[in-house]
Amino acid sequence: MTVAAHSETRRYAYEPDVRRLRSAAPTRGADELALSNQKGGVAKTTTVVSLGAAFAEQGLRVLLVDLDAQSSLTFALGIDPDDVEVSVHDVVAGDATVSEAVVEAADGLCVLPSSIELSAVERVLLTRTQREFVLREALAEVRDAYDVVILDCSPSLGVLTLNALVAADEVLVPLQCEMLSHRGVGQLLDTIADVQKLVNPDLVIRGVLPTMFDARVTHQRAILADVKERYDVPVLEPAIPRSVRFAEAPAAGRSVLSTARTSKGAAAYREVAAGLLRAWRIRPGRRSRSRRATS
Ligand code: ADP
Ligand code: MG
Repeated sequence: MTVAAHSETRRYAYEPDVRRLRSAAPTRGADELALSNQKGGVAKTTTVVSLGAAFAEQGLRVLLVDLDAQSSLTFALGIDPDDVEVSVHDVVAGDATVSEAVVEAADGLCVLPSSIELSAVERVLLTRTQREFVLREALAEVRDAYDVVILDCSPSLGVLTLNALVAADEVLVPLQCEMLSHRGVGQLLDTIADVQKLVNPDLVIRGVLPTMFDARVTHQRAILADVKERYDVPVLEPAIPRSVRFAEAPAAGRSVLSTARTSKGAAAYREVAAGLLRAWRIRPGRRSRSRRATS
């Protein structure tokens, strides 16, 4: 079954403005990867921080964007959301540029932080014209300053997540291999198919990344096999193993790659990151690289 076959349950309430398609900011420079899944607690934020740290270890310039009003990404990087002066909210509202809001965090990462204000952002976006292109246009300013930009989406499929899917070159879907958690994947793929059709035809589904995986649990393997077959999307390897190390890292404001350098979880994220760099034809250890592969 193809992704486009899941087109019955369109959920977001905002019709994209197709007239904007040709005049939108060119997608050049950094590779932009959105992590989305409307289920909470599937390791989206953990994956953003860990992949970001793995890319930074390879010498790449990495920007992480916190698009969740819960501010977990901001917090996980050791920044108190209450102390954030200029946030992604101000950028989306048109009151600040991305470079004015970016802060340097641990592990060589840069972050566009969120704050509690972000909860009002859907309303702010409704007042803006061509609202689904706001993030894409804001990020265009810094595309040449970074090699990789990773967008951490909130669990909702609202206009901010839509902005992320419009700004992104690729989308990666973290999936916790539990009984019910793959149900939302079809719905997300519907949204992605709509975004591809209407506003971002170049959006690539990089794949599903199994998280909190325990190979000893038979039904987790069965669910993985089912996801592969049912949704016809690539399943990235290796699966990220379940480990208590992941719960410890955010409190330290670092990624698991530095709080538990030699753990299996850190190794798994390094391997996934290396696979992504190969797919993008980015040479590790260098900042300059050849042009990105288109798929
Ligand atoms: P999301 O952003 O999708 O809501 P998080 O990244 O915040 O999910 O992760 C949810 C919880 O699961 C966090 O407490 C995190 O520390 C924990 N977690 C993430 N990855 C793993 C893992 N591989 N093993 C065990 N716990 C994990
Ligand atoms: Mg999160």
